[in-house]
Amino acid sequence: MSILQRVEGLRARIGRACAAADRDPATIELLPVSKRQPLSLLREAAALGFARFGENYVQEGADKAAALPELSFVLLGPLQRNKAKPALQHFAEIQSLDRPELAERLRRLAEELGVVRPVWIQVDLWDEATKLGGCTEADLPALIEALGGDARLPLRGLMAIPPPEDAGAFAQMAALRNRLQQDLGCTLRLSMGMSDDLEAAIAAGSDQIRIGTAFFGERATPSR
Ligand SMILES: *Cc1c(COP(=O)(O)O)cnc(C)c1O
Repeated sequence: MSILQRVEGLRARIGRACAAADRDPATIELLPVSKRQPLSLLREAAALGFARFGENYVQEGADKAAALPELSFVLLGPLQRNKAKPALQHFAEIQSLDRPELAERLRRLAEELGVVRPVWIQVDLWDEATKLGGCTEADLPALIEALGGDARLPLRGLMAIPPPEDAGAFAQMAALRNRLQQDLGCTLRLSMGMSDDLEAAIAAGSDQIRIGTAFFGERATPSR
């Protein structure tokens, strides 16, 4: 199946989910997740008009950014402190911010490099305690404090990878987003929903769905 065919299938799924939820499909951002996909498929997606891709590993994203300088990349995977600098250099946006120390380090480096990088806070409300990363709701104030409203790291929204078996997880995220918007007095976007659960995520109010396998097909190369 070509990427065009997959994208048409995805547009149809998004359209049906939006119709059911009384939402406008134009407000849902489809972010292709290109981790462990070859450059040839990114080029195929770029020819269809996609210019921004999600990646999980700093090195892989940096390599792809160097090979395809006309495209931009969003970091979705856990970020170690010692990779903060290359992450800011090679990614347009960071979605996996989940602790104050990392926010402080990113602020220092963004100033040093003279760059502006929108950030999303990754939340884990389900105590997954996994390598996937994410902070709890109780961790949020300290993290937002550490960001300090820094114009170099504007806060775009919340990102989450809810456990597939938890039917209420997306609604929990939507409620958290609403509370935080009220507390902070700003608009926050929600990035949730992947290949298998985009419908439920859209129903709950997601603004951005991150799609890997349903966009590109099975990931070919092995995990690092
Ligand atoms: C891999 C990945 C995705 C895409 O997953 P699929 O199930 O292939 O759609 C989305 N978000 C994150 C954070 C990922 O790591």
